[in-house]
Amino acid sequence: MSIVLVGGGHAHLKCLLDIRKKPLPNQNIYLISPDRYQYYSGMFSGYTEGLYSIDEIRIDLKDMSEKAGVTFIEDKITEVSVTEKTLLTKAGTSISFSVVSFDTGSFIEGPSSFKDYLVQIKPNYLFANKIKEYRNVEFPVVVGGGASGVEIALAITAWREKNGYPTNVTLITSSKLLPSSSSKASTLIKEIAVRKGLSVIEDDSVGEMNESHVITQNGTSLPHSQVLWLTGPSPSGIFKKSSLPCDQNGFLLTEKTLQAKGLPFIFGAGDCMTLEAFPDLPKNGVYAVRQAELLWNNIIGYLNGDVCSTFTPQRHFLSLLSTGNKKALLQYGRFTIHNKFAWMLKNKIDTDYMKKFQN
Ligand SMILES: Cc1cc2nc3c(=O)[nH]c(=O)nc-3n(C[C@H](O)[C@H](O)[C@H](O)COP(=O)(O)OP(=O)(O)OC[C@H]3O[C@@H](n4cnc5c(N)ncnc54)[C@H](O)[C@@H]3O)c2cc1C
Repeated sequence: MSIVLVGGGHAHLKCLLDIRKKPLPNQNIYLISPDRYQYYSGMFSGYTEGLYSIDEIRIDLKDMSEKAGVTFIEDKITEVSVTEKTLLTKAGTSISFSVVSFDTGSFIEGPSSFKDYLVQIKPNYLFANKIKEYRNVEFPVVVGGGASGVEIALAITAWREKNGYPTNVTLITSSKLLPSSSSKASTLIKEIAVRKGLSVIEDDSVGEMNESHVITQNGTSLPHSQVLWLTGPSPSGIFKKSSLPCDQNGFLLTEKTLQAKGLPFIFGAGDCMTLEAFPDLPKNGVYAVRQAELLWNNIIGYLNGDVCSTFTPQRHFLSLLSTGNKKALLQYGRFTIHNKFAWMLKNKIDTDYMKKFQN
């Protein structure tokens, strides 16, 4: 009997803690990740701005696995055979499983014609090195006006200001900034961005790109030194390729129990999957952390023939978006405020979260 955890995302980190607390005898448990470290995206903006060191934003998966009695395999899953219950890896190994769980996150896929000019920051172990190189380029251009695009564009701006570089960062978005937030939050973040010297191009999108310039649909031409593409999440190709149940975009389709539709021995959590009952749920770390609470119990429950618990997303969640220089925008429901306290709260939540996995 083998339980295979694929990817070191939020839910699998919690599984490792659960296993360490209550080891499971007579089970071989594996964790497979293409990198020994898992990097925490909640602290990406702080890292970009120079507030955190690399060791503060990453978790040692090999060390955590060893402490839990789990075998760590540094490799990447490329395909699943449902009939044979095996996983194929990039290194060419075949791994058998009784239960497999995917927490492999999402990707960011810009248009293929722009591929040569985009900075690749996903999977998340690429982020730290790539952003370090990118934050001091001559003409930084970020695409995407959602939380991650805004946060990283502001963090690059703050880092450049502190380190004597021109704050000539441009953010291009096809909507208003923070389109999923209230109009009050969108207006406020725009004011903050403009005050900090970030040039914001709203309601426009990238039409063309060559090695030196971006040309928007509305005809604005700007120089770039590669483009940081931070639009919405894209799926990994594994699920479709393996003919697993998928939503229309190729994310693994799961029941509320986090079990793949019709395949109860396959679990999924976090960005890599879509819950059939909540297809429009945004993909962010907040839900991945919540799903983590029930994933391991459900895996054990399934193996013991028990009924699995169901996941219901919270209606509102606290959103804290760092805006640079230790200030943050706090949103909860329709409540919005921007101040230093919000950043202190974000810093406390993020550092407390990391401490759970770093000792
Ligand atoms: C710049 C940026 C900033 C963000 N900031 C925030 C934020 O502040 N708050 C928030 O809630 N969300 C934020 N997000 C979104 C957040 O990163 C994701 O929603 C969250 O990380 C999803 O967690 P996860 O557990 O699904 O997977 P991830 O945290 O992405 O982890 C997936 C893991 O699986 C591994 N993996 C991938 N493919 C394979 C494979 N084939 N085989 C084995 N392993 C594999 C990856 O290497 C990675 O270690 C941000 C995103 C970005 C891009």
